[in-house]
Amino acid sequence: MIDLLQRLLPRSLRQPTPVPDALWQSTLTAHPFLSRLDCTEQDRLRLLCTHFLMEKEFHGANDLELTDAMALAIAAQACLPLLHMHGTSGEAVRDPLKLLDWYGDFVGIVVQPGAVVARRKTTDGAGVVHHYDEVLAGEAMDRGPLMLSWEEVAHASVAAESGSNVVIHEFVHKMDMRGISLGEHPDGAPPLPKGFMAMQHAFNAFREAVAMAERFGAERPWLDDYAAKDPAEFFAVTCEAYFVNRERFAYEFPALVPLYDGFFRPAASPQ
Ligand SMILES: [Zn+2]
Repeated sequence: MIDLLQRLLPRSLRQPTPVPDALWQSTLTAHPFLSRLDCTEQDRLRLLCTHFLMEKEFHGANDLELTDAMALAIAAQACLPLLHMHGTSGEAVRDPLKLLDWYGDFVGIVVQPGAVVARRKTTDGAGVVHHYDEVLAGEAMDRGPLMLSWEEVAHASVAAESGSNVVIHEFVHKMDMRGISLGEHPDGAPPLPKGFMAMQHAFNAFREAVAMAERFGAERPWLDDYAAKDPAEFFAVTCEAYFVNRERFAYEFPALVPLYDGFFRPAASPQ
């Protein structure tokens, strides 16, 4: 109730419940890509997390009992991409809390104990309707809630070695969905800086590599094949790696580094 009233105030006047020191420290320790951040970054991340936790409503589904530690783990990974960003209109922000506007189109975060099987339906060119199941570790709905499988989130530390992170994946989709019309599919090109053709090239090369692995037994490319699905998934999957395993990301996708730096760290990168 208090949170509800507080949400009516401008962010600068809200007084979110502070994140206890011990809980904060254990969250950093549990995630190598967070403990690596410098002190200024960690302080900024903590500030974003306290407000994020006040603004969002977490729901544990299927009897999942959500703890503060679980909510904080999600908040910290969700806010990581925001740390050095500009505002949603591309403007430099003085108040870091403005960065939460990137996630301003929704409130609910549903946490499932494990992966969810979704029934899907597509109609092919001949007008035949196909039903299939899709196993989801997370899902972001445009202007709607976001779903995460706790089983997946809990493995963030190990998953980072292979460049994966389900929380970052879904929240990057949220960024990508900004500016699209209702019902449209995100295109993997949020308001990114110029030179985005490099991304198209990287996407084509990745698709090619997946096809070579599938059909001709070539070595599988680093990162989930799912990235070959479409530009939006390629963007989300490569962003996971950019944030949790930057060294390997830079080795695998050198052309994407300046591009993503330009979007996620605009002040630090040459314009
Ligand atoms: Zn996705």
